[in-house]
Amino acid sequence: AALDEQTRRLTERRQEVLGGSYRLFYRKPVHLVRGQGQYLWDAEGNKYLDMYNNVASIGHAHPAVVDAVHGQMQQLNTHTRYLHERILDYTEELRTTLPEYLTAGDYKAMYMCTGSEANDLAIRVAKAYTGGTGLIATAEAYHGTSELTSSISPALGSGQPIGEHVWLLPAPDSYRTGVKDIGAWFAQKIRDAIAEMTSQGVTFAGFIADSIFSSDGVLPGTYLKEAIDAVHEAGGVFIADEVQPGFARTGEEFWGFACHGVSPDIITMGKPMGNGIPVSGLLARSEVLASFSDTIPYFSTFGGNPVSMAAAQAVLEVIRCEGLQAHALDVGAQALDSFRQLATAHENVGDVRGSGLFIGFELVRDRDTREPARDLALAMLEELRSRGVLTSVAGPHGNVLKLRPPLPFSEQDIPWATQALDESLSVLTR
Ligand code: PMP
Repeated sequence: AALDEQTRRLTERRQEVLGGSYRLFYRKPVHLVRGQGQYLWDAEGNKYLDMYNNVASIGHAHPAVVDAVHGQMQQLNTHTRYLHERILDYTEELRTTLPEYLTAGDYKAMYMCTGSEANDLAIRVAKAYTGGTGLIATAEAYHGTSELTSSISPALGSGQPIGEHVWLLPAPDSYRTGVKDIGAWFAQKIRDAIAEMTSQGVTFAGFIADSIFSSDGVLPGTYLKEAIDAVHEAGGVFIADEVQPGFARTGEEFWGFACHGVSPDIITMGKPMGNGIPVSGLLARSEVLASFSDTIPYFSTFGGNPVSMAAAQAVLEVIRCEGLQAHALDVGAQALDSFRQLATAHENVGDVRGSGLFIGFELVRDRDTREPARDLALAMLEELRSRGVLTSVAGPHGNVLKLRPPLPFSEQDIPWATQALDESLSVLTR
């Protein structure tokens, strides 16, 4: 009871001092005090399985990152107006993660601190390169907090104004649309949008997408090629927002876009890049970036600083040394299999899909009509929490559980997650 009192006090203090836009998860908010690997502990000593966090992607409190940050912080932290090896070493290493079909040497890097800033610059670059203003994003996308990125982020809800020259397309969701060739379907939507903007006198600047369409409901696959060809044929820029799928999570590939075999003009990255240290960046084709950088300077005080670069270097090294990409592929497939089996006993499980350790668990009222079960999904979050499993929902109907644990999530964790899903479904539907 004393600790419930503490939860209440902390919640009240938040309301007193923090802006109202902050939203807490859960009816009984979770007060975390420690993390290790894929696990978290609250102030009462309860252990949780983190099924949500792609920031602490190589594991909470990873010693390699702690040591790298500590060592560099002890020595020096400055900005990009002085020479320093780390930003160069890191960029050279980062380029080696690009898929073989791209020419790594063609891509140049810029660094900042948040995914929003990376997307913000990417859009400015796309506009500079094309001379256009027309942007295409998906109907439930989220790309950031700035004026520009929030204007292409319908996930923020109806209160968020969408930019004047922004075209929002339905996401390439083959389950919800029932369309078999979702690649051709989506490419046609892109062509139609470009034709419409052209007819209105708006020049096409580019298409931005999170290649796993996380906010749109987690839509893994290999279907984007035709759509990106259409973007390029129309002279537009393709921005691959890798804030969610990037850094080995999808298992098959290091980058989400590479699963589709497409060539982005700009790749933006954040969240898992520094395992919790605020660091983000973009890699852009030299020719595209030059249209901006030849005329406009860019300086981000903290972007690319040696401490952030040290964290980012440690992340790449750990992914390589611990074989986390192959691990994500292997354990992700086992987890997907285990979660899929729940559909046998539970009618409300509509579709379970995933790529590596990025899994969407879609709940429906009726499997035939596929009517989304939003209330069930929200109730599931609370039930899962009471069984120590933390996650959240995604998709236009808020009925898709987003299962996206830190990459050390292992075979031993699958029974915990599966049983929690199983019991929660039983409790709520019987
Ligand atoms: N793009 C995507 C796909 C995201 O998921 C997010 C964060 N949820 C962002 C951009 C923005 O990143 P940040 O919060 O670091 O600004």
